[in-house]
Amino acid sequence: MLVAVVGGGQLGRMLGLAGIPLGLRFRFLDPDPDASAREVGELIVGEYDDEDGLKRLADGADVVTYEFENVPVDAVRALERYAPVLPNPRALEVTQDRLAEKTLFGVVGIPFHAYRPVDSLEELRAAIEEVGTPALLKTRRMGYDGKGQCELFDQSHAAAAWEAIDGAPSILEALVEFDRELSVIAVRDDDGQTRCYPLVENTHREGILRTSVAPAPDVSLDLRTQAERYANAILDELDYVGVLALELFQVGDRLLANEIAPRVHNSGHWSIEGAQTSQFENHLRAVLGFPLGSIAPRGASGMVNLVGSEPDAAPVLEIAGAHLHRYGKAPRPGRKLGHITVIADDAAARDERLTQIVRLVDQTPAEG
Ligand code: AMP
Repeated sequence: MLVAVVGGGQLGRMLGLAGIPLGLRFRFLDPDPDASAREVGELIVGEYDDEDGLKRLADGADVVTYEFENVPVDAVRALERYAPVLPNPRALEVTQDRLAEKTLFGVVGIPFHAYRPVDSLEELRAAIEEVGTPALLKTRRMGYDGKGQCELFDQSHAAAAWEAIDGAPSILEALVEFDRELSVIAVRDDDGQTRCYPLVENTHREGILRTSVAPAPDVSLDLRTQAERYANAILDELDYVGVLALELFQVGDRLLANEIAPRVHNSGHWSIEGAQTSQFENHLRAVLGFPLGSIAPRGASGMVNLVGSEPDAAPVLEIAGAHLHRYGKAPRPGRKLGHITVIADDAAARDERLTQIVRLVDQTPAEG
């Protein structure tokens, strides 16, 4: 079977790595001839809005899926003539636009923090009055890893913030004083069956995911139930097939939705070694109509992203339970180059190993 993937980054590469044992073949579309997934399948080099490239991608494929969501929705819709596109393009449409995403949260009854749509400097000034400060101005589209965002401390920053995001259609969000950030990775098959991986606790640095631990510590049954209810509500509302990530803020015993990723997600990388079935394999199982695999954890897991530089392999591999994943990408500041997962029998041993890994990664000199 041939799986066509829009995007050829590390997520595509890891989909390929998960699917090859199942006998699957892969084809990717990416504008970068050095795209990370080139080593696990055929790479079509082309822009995401290039209809010819998209058509070549879908030609003869059993399914088209994506690992990158900022793709023109109409172009992806056009592919439905050639092969099933899963998750369906509506999921792309909603998650490409922060305003549509908030509307979805409202429709399915998921709590989220205060926000206002902003289309002009005047509207920004009014929104600051309504939402209060500190606040975050985020472009509605094309924002990820903290890009297209600007923090605001008071009204006097309005003009500079508006300029910083190039006056793009935006939303102003209250800055949440969260206790911690959590995410839930969930998968839904074409019969509507869903499974949620255990909640993951995440830390970020400069807007980029830095570490994850799974299962997240100190998760009450109530918290887990809230997270799963929210994830399932989104999956059902979108009639979604595949893996989806829901990023959440924990405030006291409540969860507030931050954003949705309609794809496999960085905070689910621990599942490669840490779950009975990884998020990548379960995504493939779902979009190809195979039975879903168990999401049960194999132990206590952690993950550290390698951003901008990579440590030598040997000292990483010396750490018990550690696994190094490199994406074959040239180093650049702020670029995700790989990650390290770690697994242990219990949380205490995991934390000790994770601390060792973080220390090692922090000591790696920046490249370039
Ligand atoms: P995003 O691109 O919206 O996922 O934002 C990246 C990161 O910025 C999040 O994971 C948070 O750490 C932080 N962040 C985003 N929005 C907010 C918010 N409204 N309040 C506090 N922190 C936020």
